[in-house]
Order: sequence, then structure tokens, then C-alpha cells
Amino acid sequence: MRPTGKLHLGHLVGALENWVALQHDFHNYHLIADYHALTTNLDSSGILQNSLDMVIDWLAAGIDPKESPIFRQSQIKEHTELHLIFSMLITAARLERNPAVKDQVRELHIENVSYGHLGYPVLQAADILLYKGDLVPVGEDQVPHVEISREIARRFNAQYGVVFPEPEPKLTRFARLPGLDGMDKKMSKSARNTILLSDSPDSIRSKVRTAVTDPLKVRKNDPGRPDICLIHTYHQKFNPGGVADVRAGCMSGALGCVECKLRIADAIARHLEPFREKRAHFEAHPEEVRQILEDGEGRARSRAQATMTEVRKVMNLG
Ligand code: AMP
Repeated sequence: MRPTGKLHLGHLVGALENWVALQHDFHNYHLIADYHALTTNLDSSGILQNSLDMVIDWLAAGIDPKESPIFRQSQIKEHTELHLIFSMLITAARLERNPAVKDQVRELHIENVSYGHLGYPVLQAADILLYKGDLVPVGEDQVPHVEISREIARRFNAQYGVVFPEPEPKLTRFARLPGLDGMDKKMSKSARNTILLSDSPDSIRSKVRTAVTDPLKVRKNDPGRPDICLIHTYHQKFNPGGVADVRAGCMSGALGCVECKLRIADAIARHLEPFREKRAHFEAHPEEVRQILEDGEGRARSRAQATMTEVRKVMNLG
């Protein structure tokens, strides 16, 4: 994940929940993509604080740093080294066709894409393959990037000898959570349509109140269409036991949007409640978070160095 500050529900349900669920059965590597953050924002003044805020959200959500390392991309030089080698294995035309970068350029109104931004998936391939990652738990928008990692791994193995696995994306059921402004909009910080994992119950309630719902359900008793309503998607995720009731009430007109929104705001606040205590602990002890990074960076570096030794060997670079 890029350290763009505090995390939102899209990060949680699209990726972070999978990280937590997989950490006991797999060797997870939790990477803070701080170089990647520069692709869309050159101002690096907030990058360290944003990284710490993000790690606190990871820890609050249940990531166990003893189980699997948490580390910054920028602290492990092997990422840039492998990125350089990989950049020879893919054409500029292939990167220009990448739909994920095209979407980002459109959403952020970027006029001229930088060389580094175009190479975003090449650095990501290095992030994944340095640790021989075979499973990449990401949201739907990242699937084209994982495909590029597969192509690069294949090309490297064919050219120099087999070193890398071909990684697969691992999606959750909610691989693209809509934002508060409509079903067709992804929840994202740049769109300002988020609920943060650190929002208070009051803030969640007032944000949910502004959510766009079915435009044909104007009065409380008008029948609604849950399948086109983002609040219904949120109920499916955060209030699974109440979905049938909400759905029937919405469609018959017995349940108005105000009440439906109140119910989901409470369910989201309840879901995030256990995070609050853990977050408060780490916010009060930033030195523990720094120690977690230092420890994770040491462990990740050893692994990355071992892979680079193999890479140099098969390439006759050592
Ligand atoms: P980013 O902030 O773009 O680095 O995203 C970090 C991870 O969260 C990636 O795996 C994204 O696919 C995932 N993600 C971000 N926003 C959403 C969303 N609205 N729904 C599902 N997954 C998301």
C-alpha cells in the first residue's frame, strides 16, 4: 500500500482483511510503497508521518508484525536494483496500454505522465518478486499490475533461468468498494468519498448521511432498488445478518433511507470498535511503531538480498 495517510474502508475490505486472514498460513510481507507514493505526489514532506499512520491502521486491524515483517520499500535498496533490471524486460508500449495507470491519469487529471509513473507496475513487480511472492492480496484496480508482474517474471525466467514464481492476485468478495458518492465510484482518498478506519462513530454517522442512494426513492415509502444502492453494498459487508430485512424493507417501501443509513453507520462503527483501542495504544507509543519497522526492515532486507544473489548469479553479474 502507498502511504497516503489514514486508511479507509476500501483498503480494509479490498486488501487489509485478506492480509490479516492469510498471515498465519502464509509468509506475508507487508510493504509500505513509499517510492510509489511519489508517482502521484512529489511532495514528500508528509511521507514518514503518513507511513506511520498507515502502519498504525494495519496494526489496529490485526496485522501481527512478529508473524510477518512490515517495512518501507525505500529502506531496502534491492527494490531499486531489481526494478532497473526488470525495466529492460517490458516495452514502453506495454506500459502505456496499462488500464490502471490510464484510470489514475484520468481520475487525478494528470496531463503528462512521468517516466516513474509509467514504470509504477515495474517497481511493483520488483516489490512482489524480490520476496518470490506467489499470491498478491490486492483490490480489483491492482489486477492489471499483477498481470504485468507475471509477464516480467516469465520473461526473466525464459531469458536468464528460473528464479521467480508467476504471482496471482488474490481478491476479496469486495474487491472494489464504492465510495459515498455513488455505486460507480471507487472509494478513494483523492475522490474525498471515504469513511476512515479511524473515524469516530459520530463522524461515520454524519458521513453516511450524505451518501448517494437510489434517486427514484425520493420519499420514505417509495420502493427502492437495493441492487443499485451503495448503502446496500455496505450492509452486505458490515451487516450481513440484517441484509434480508433491509432489502425487503427497502423494496416494499417500509424502510426509508434515513433509517437504513443509521443502521449501517452503527454497524460500521461496531465493526471498527475493536480497532480503536489498539490504535490508541500505538498512537501513544510511536517508538514501538518505529521499532516494528526497524525489525521488519532487517528481516525483509535479508530475504531481498538472498533473491538478488540468485538474480546476479543467473545473469552473470556477480
Ligand atoms: P493504494 O492506496 O492505491 O496503494 O491501495 C492499497 C490497496 O487497497 C490496493 O490493493 C487497492 O486495490 C486496495 N483498495 C484501495 N481502494 C479500494 C477500494 N475502494 N475497494 C477495494 N480495494 C481498494
